[in-house]
Amino acid sequence: MITGGAGFIGSHLADACIARGYRVIVLDNLSGGRRDYVNAAAEFVQGDVTEPAHLEPIFANGVDAVLHLAAQASIRLSFADPSHDLRTNTLGTINVLQACLAYRVPRLLFASSMTIYGNSNPVPTAESAAPDPASYYAITKYAAERYVHLTAARRDLDFQLNVTSFRMFNVYGERQSLTNAYQGVMAIFIGNVLRGEPITIHSDGEQSRDFVHISDVVRAWMDALEQPATYGQVINLGTGVPTTVNALCDAVLRAFGKDRSSYPVHYGPAQPGDMRASAADIRRAQALLNWQPRVPFAEGIQQTIAWARAQLSDSRR
Ligand code: NAD
Repeated sequence: MITGGAGFIGSHLADACIARGYRVIVLDNLSGGRRDYVNAAAEFVQGDVTEPAHLEPIFANGVDAVLHLAAQASIRLSFADPSHDLRTNTLGTINVLQACLAYRVPRLLFASSMTIYGNSNPVPTAESAAPDPASYYAITKYAAERYVHLTAARRDLDFQLNVTSFRMFNVYGERQSLTNAYQGVMAIFIGNVLRGEPITIHSDGEQSRDFVHISDVVRAWMDALEQPATYGQVINLGTGVPTTVNALCDAVLRAFGKDRSSYPVHYGPAQPGDMRASAADIRRAQALLNWQPRVPFAEGIQQTIAWARAQLSDSRR
């Protein structure tokens, strides 16, 4: 079962699971995801993780593993509507966990986030760093992650619940929304250029992010699914390389054959919850999964832009 399986990352995971021969059920309320991203071989249930009644019939039918990605994934919207953020990210995760307990599901993989590291940790940041959430979103993802791991460690369960959380850094690639101004800075910039809109950089642009390609992220999740070494573990997924938002903007423009002399780039106020510096220490993923990101940043941007251009021409047909 993949919650959030109509979204950017979840839909790629559904494809990968089906390619591996698994039977896949996608649960998604389509608040952000798209029905046409759900693999045709998957069973699709339109439902909400905040409603236990929507989860129950799926679990009652038998679930071997849950990939839990359904979430409110925008830092900005977490400030605009903190209750919705808490309900979706934390309460939704509690509901998924309760269903796992009720139906003795042995395996749960959770989509955690690098945002929990905040601003006080050394960069690149290791999983052992003390969390310092700088946004409501980071708080609710961290709380959810702790619910997952604490539940799995409970001594009163009469079965083994094996959990793994991936603290993903800035995932990018095909199917990231080009129109959602609240999520995914690379896709926002690409969407801006495709529509001929000016690019707005918040703050001075010297804040950094660690951009990791969707195919690398999917490979880590898939390799972890049946890998006991990852049970109980929290694992960073990034490249270890920080890229400033200014450098990202220049790289996107360059990939379109443009630069700042020919394209409007504005600076706006810093956003609440923005982190100043971010990059992953990926030694744990290397050790447990023999994982290494493979897609170089420049190549990943080119691929993403090629996909984005095709989207735009499709929508004009
Ligand atoms: P996304 O918005 O594309 O995917 C989230 C999906 O969850 C969407 O399809 C949405 O419709 C669905 N959803 C939202 N609320 C729901 C609800 N109440 N019930 C059922 N479905 C619901 O975002 P994404 O980038 O694919 O992120 C997937 C997961 O990974 C999220 O948990 C996010 O917090 C986490 N994450 C993403 C990144 C990233 O860089 N994209 C980094 C770290 C963590």
